[in-house]
Amino acid sequence: MSLLVVGSVALDSLETPFGQKEDVLGGSATYFSTSASFFTPVQVVAVVGEDFPEGHLTFLKSRGIDLEGLTREPGRTFRWRGRYGWELNEAQTLDTQLNVFQSFSPKLPEAYRDTPYVFLGNIHPELQAQVLDQVKAPKLVAADTMNFWIKGSRAALLKTLERVNLLFVNDAEARQLSGEHNVVKAARAILGMGPSRVVIKRGEYGALLFDHDHIFACPAFPLSEVFDPTGAGDTFAGGFMGTLATARGAVDQPLLRRAMVMGSVMASFTVEKFSLERLREVQRPEIHARFAEFRRLTHFDDLGPIEA
Ligand code: AMP
Repeated sequence: MSLLVVGSVALDSLETPFGQKEDVLGGSATYFSTSASFFTPVQVVAVVGEDFPEGHLTFLKSRGIDLEGLTREPGRTFRWRGRYGWELNEAQTLDTQLNVFQSFSPKLPEAYRDTPYVFLGNIHPELQAQVLDQVKAPKLVAADTMNFWIKGSRAALLKTLERVNLLFVNDAEARQLSGEHNVVKAARAILGMGPSRVVIKRGEYGALLFDHDHIFACPAFPLSEVFDPTGAGDTFAGGFMGTLATARGAVDQPLLRRAMVMGSVMASFTVEKFSLERLREVQRPEIHARFAEFRRLTHFDDLGPIEA
């Protein structure tokens, strides 16, 4: 089943301890759609400027991604500049330039309106709401956000959250959004804001899925080389939502747990190289092999009752 995403399509400038890159392909919708395209057809709603290289669009199209809802407008593409220290878990934003997103008003192509799965990628919460206004009867609406919007557009974000079924946030964002330091308390507070499920991503420490009755913990794949964490969160969400969209039955715990593992698998590829370099080259057999490795990584035998 198809999956719709609204989010940023960006030119990123990145500094990590391993090097520096200027104006490379990035953006929440870009990472998300590339990751999800391994599983299901993806429709993108976004805007780029006149300076956005055509080659990047050719790449997205080569992944089978539907770009009918991606427009090119006069002006400059969204730009984000970020830095990571040796503690690669959290990006420090040096600069955010909304550029063409400032005056963007998304119009969904007719073919997008019946989409059952919707992902409101990291972008202004009012744009997220405008997309939601135009879809007919989605089966599941998921969203992502970040400190920039939690701090800068809190009221609009809280309004959008009331219409969201599942929220993806990292631990720092969960704390900022909820005002709770403890992640379990933060998750419970977020479950009171609208979403009935929340995924809290914790970088190299994995991710936690909460609903009112369950908690599921999924590790991050232990990698010996982490190069650039940019996009890990959106890639995770792409693998997660792509997995949900391929399933025929209900969105139940076993499916959600598989989605968590697939999110972790996809994110583990993204961080191995700069920008989308690794996602560009990864093949399905590698994805399946890493999924199988996850099973071995997390398996333990139930030996029965523990002897005192
Ligand atoms: P993440 O998956 O959280 O690492 O997301 C990284 C991507 O988010 C980068 O490629 C940026 O272009 C994009 N990004 C950063 N800040 C914003 C923002 N305020 N709104 C939308 N996208 C952003």
